[in-house]
Amino acid sequence: MGVLTEKDNGYVANTYKRFPVEIVSGKGSVFTDSEGKEYIDMGSGIGVNAFGAADPVWAEAVAKQASTLQHTSNLYYTEPCAELAELLCTKTGMKKVFFCNSGAEANECAIKTARKYAQDKKGEEYYTVITLVNSFHGRTVTTLAATGQDHFHTLFNPLTPGFVYVPANDIEAVKKAIDENKTAAVMFECVQGEGGVMPLEGDYLRALAAYAAEKDVLLIADEVQTGNGRTGELYAYMNFGITPDIVSTAKGLGGGLPIGAVMFGEKTAGVLTYGQHGSTFGGNPVCCAGALTVIKRLDKAFLSEVKAKSEYVFSALKGAGGVEAVSGMGLMIGITTTRPAADIVKECMENGVLCLTAKTKVRLLPPLNIPMELLQKAVEIIKSACAKEV
Ligand SMILES: *Cc1c(COP(=O)(O)O)cnc(C)c1O
Repeated sequence: MGVLTEKDNGYVANTYKRFPVEIVSGKGSVFTDSEGKEYIDMGSGIGVNAFGAADPVWAEAVAKQASTLQHTSNLYYTEPCAELAELLCTKTGMKKVFFCNSGAEANECAIKTARKYAQDKKGEEYYTVITLVNSFHGRTVTTLAATGQDHFHTLFNPLTPGFVYVPANDIEAVKKAIDENKTAAVMFECVQGEGGVMPLEGDYLRALAAYAAEKDVLLIADEVQTGNGRTGELYAYMNFGITPDIVSTAKGLGGGLPIGAVMFGEKTAGVLTYGQHGSTFGGNPVCCAGALTVIKRLDKAFLSEVKAKSEYVFSALKGAGGVEAVSGMGLMIGITTTRPAADIVKECMENGVLCLTAKTKVRLLPPLNIPMELLQKAVEIIKSACAKEV
């Protein structure tokens, strides 16, 4: 055991089961550990390093901003924050942006906004937020309550009340829940990430959007994982021809620095007013300068490359030995394997490829700009791990 591993195990709270790898540096889609071994990164820090490790464009913008002005608080105007908000609104058609620091915080803000909207329009008893079974929305007391997986609900009771769960892709179930509760909003991931990399059906989402609009119930798209180019569109909802009232995002947005954002549409842009929400770090100039370099590069040509890489991975893995199914969208991919996913991840790691899991699947979230040669090399190693007879 290395000195670093020993120190970390001794002093960092025991909430993570780390792999026995000490990563010391990275370049693009390759990480290097303390023994000099290289790994192809098929996880990008759980969908965070959108342009890989130490991306030069991102690093230059971040370094420049850090040596110009790193923080002011939200009492003052700063340029990167305003520029990023404008860019996000221009690219999505959304109207306003609130900045925070993480996915859970973005969802907290989305939920607060939905409750305030419903309270203003219908009355304060209209606070229920409907979410989907197998969803994941975060680890705060409220976003744990929003998460539709029972095992997250047992240890920290009482959680925030006002959440109702319905099975995904069941339009009658969600309509019934909207009608039977005093409903403020329905919140969903277009592709359930932690829950097993499962895309929702387009017909379901469109029918849900129509019914929610009819009932003046808000649609909250949790794009913390699916956003910022991950699915081959700037935001995943754009694959489905729906327009959410609120979009929350984080992970890939900052390209490696902590930033979350909540985008508000026509109905919700004016809901929160002075003093009703805030964040000390939100809109931090360094994080926003990094995020600007990410969002600026997610243009049509780049996103079509993401789609092409996705098609390659799907076609290489579908029907391969030991692979039972492949799910997901863009470069957010779940593999159902004959062997246990954890064994495959371990073997890939030994062979120089870092993968993730989601429930019982192997999950891939490579940097969006991973070069095709590295992607092919990683997929070959993953395929041989899946096919191995044990
Ligand atoms: C990761 C994730 C979150 C939580 O984000 P944090 O930054 O860890 O708070 C919320 N929703 C979804 C869909 C996620 O994938």
